[in-house]
Amino acid sequence: VRRAVETAEAALDAVLGDTARQEAALDQREAFPADLCARLDAFGLPAHYVPTRWGGRLDDYGRLWSLWRTVARRDLSAVVAHGKTFLGAAPVWVAGNSSQAEETAAAVLAGAPMAWALSEPEHGADLLRNSFSARPVPGGWRLDGVKWPVNNATRAGRLSVLACTDAAETARGHSLFLVDKAGLAPDSWRALPKEPTHGIRGVDISGIEFSGATVPEDAMIGPRGTGIETTLRCLQLTRTLCTALSAGAGERALRVAARFAAGRLIKERPLAERPVPLSVLARCAALLAAAEASSLVAARSIHSLTGEMSVTSAIVKPLAPTLADSVLGELAELLGVRSFLVGVYEHGAFQKLYRDHQIVSVFDGSTPVNRAALVQQFPRLVAGFESASYDAAGLAEAVGQNVFLRPPCTDSLTLASRTGSSVVQSLPVLAMELAADNGPAGLAEQAAALCADARRLTLLMAQVRPAARPAMMAYEMAAAYELCYAGAACLQVWKAQARQHSTAPLWQGGLWVRAALRELRARLAVTMRWAPPDACPGDDAIGQELGRLTVAAAANGSTITPLGTPVPMISPGSQESV
Ligand SMILES: Cc1cc2nc3c(=O)[nH]c(=O)nc-3n(C[C@H](O)[C@H](O)[C@H](O)COP(=O)(O)OP(=O)(O)OC[C@H]3O[C@@H](n4cnc5c(N)ncnc54)[C@H](O)[C@@H]3O)c2cc1C
Repeated sequence: VRRAVETAEAALDAVLGDTARQEAALDQREAFPADLCARLDAFGLPAHYVPTRWGGRLDDYGRLWSLWRTVARRDLSAVVAHGKTFLGAAPVWVAGNSSQAEETAAAVLAGAPMAWALSEPEHGADLLRNSFSARPVPGGWRLDGVKWPVNNATRAGRLSVLACTDAAETARGHSLFLVDKAGLAPDSWRALPKEPTHGIRGVDISGIEFSGATVPEDAMIGPRGTGIETTLRCLQLTRTLCTALSAGAGERALRVAARFAAGRLIKERPLAERPVPLSVLARCAALLAAAEASSLVAARSIHSLTGEMSVTSAIVKPLAPTLADSVLGELAELLGVRSFLVGVYEHGAFQKLYRDHQIVSVFDGSTPVNRAALVQQFPRLVAGFESASYDAAGLAEAVGQNVFLRPPCTDSLTLASRTGSSVVQSLPVLAMELAADNGPAGLAEQAAALCADARRLTLLMAQVRPAARPAMMAYEMAAAYELCYAGAACLQVWKAQARQHSTAPLWQGGLWVRAALRELRARLAVTMRWAPPDACPGDDAIGQELGRLTVAAAANGSTITPLGTPVPMISPGSQESV
């Protein structure tokens, strides 16, 4: 399974070629990455947005995650522009009828871009307050209102549009429509201008205004009144997959910064030979490993822990960009002026991805929005941890690598998880198993300490009363729970896959997982204002070793994260002198 994914990623890399110079030029001109998107079409990426049932190749969300990460480590603009088609089509896969699915599949497979129009100028994340209306007229529905800002709103021929069909501000007052622009009267809609943006500057971030546009009755996706529910179920897929953008941006940044540290001479010695830069690189590699493990486990959970995705997506959507933003901040400092100047060092790649990535924590549900959603599920998470119950079979599929995933069943996506989070709830058993193992020095201690942290946290979560506007402390607990999830995911991935990766340098002696656990527990303590964690056996040697491996991987293009893949090295001449 893993080999097939790696082959697909390598093929995608080969199709993309060396894009560094091109993406920098496009960014400066604020031009759409049309050539890169055409290459993604030529590779066949659109087929990965279409379920196999409808003639596509989407049968493994982990693979789609990996493919998006491969594009994201080249150019976030390209993946944001191209990937939007999956988001636009998702409501059809989740709730559409067979003729909508067939029509959408044919369009997507032919390379037609799609859009997903939820936001309105007056209402961002608060979808219930939306005022865009759909009113019944003979033979169909009349659409009125503005959707803005919307990615691909101008380029897309088809959009999934959320509209108010009944009493506004009620969960059953909204419905989704599949709108084909080609079927609308020309004077009944207009595209709104592209908005200039701070990052992903070339992407079509625009909008669309409808004034009496009529769509046929069968344009409605799912039954009347299910728009909010379908949207929330689709967001469980899209928010989980968005984490690939953070993993890709983080990887690119780490490679750029590590190459810089290796080549930059300070007092005639490479920067990378100093303990501080090496520790920074190691810490960033550890956080990136944690983001990768948790995001990939979440993506695979779409198949095997489907009923938990309301919790899982609300955990990883804030977690991955938060960890990546922290990585980018530290690496920016390490790169110094080369993190800021547009025209130097690998075509100014860092400053571009630093700007581009800023939006990932905002769109498709911001960090506070997801944390607020997680808080609503605290009672279930507390009960799940107390009972130490979890879905062992589903978890084994999610954390394994050469394990076949059951086919995805989006019908099982639910608005609340009845079983909490199997990943976090497996911690007590996992800690006991690792204690009984003759594993790497310090790992069992880390696992036991994380389990104790999670127990202490859930006791505090138990005191949070359900509220429409939770107190600040509840948001902090949600952030801490994310870190517990990340730690548990790392430990589970380690336990499931250590043997098959036994020759890989990052896996020797549990290097990456020990480093990740150390960083995650330190962040957890800061988040909860607890005392810093005690050092575990072997901790002092981790940083320098991981730092050296990171520098080596950046220099030769080999894998830089535990579940990553090599990257083709950039062409000679595209890396200016440091
Ligand atoms: C590049 C880009 C691409 C986009 N693509 C699309 C797209 O394709 N389709 C689409 O429909 N929309 C899209 N959007 C819109 C985007 O998803 C919205 O902007 C988003 O929903 C957030 O809304 P907001 O920031 O405008 O405002 P608000 O939702 O009003 O948020 C304002 C602030 O309040 C916080 N907040 C909101 N709710 C809560 C809560 N419950 N608890 C705590 N804090 C909260 C937010 O985090 C934010 O800090 C895009 C936006 C951008 C910039």
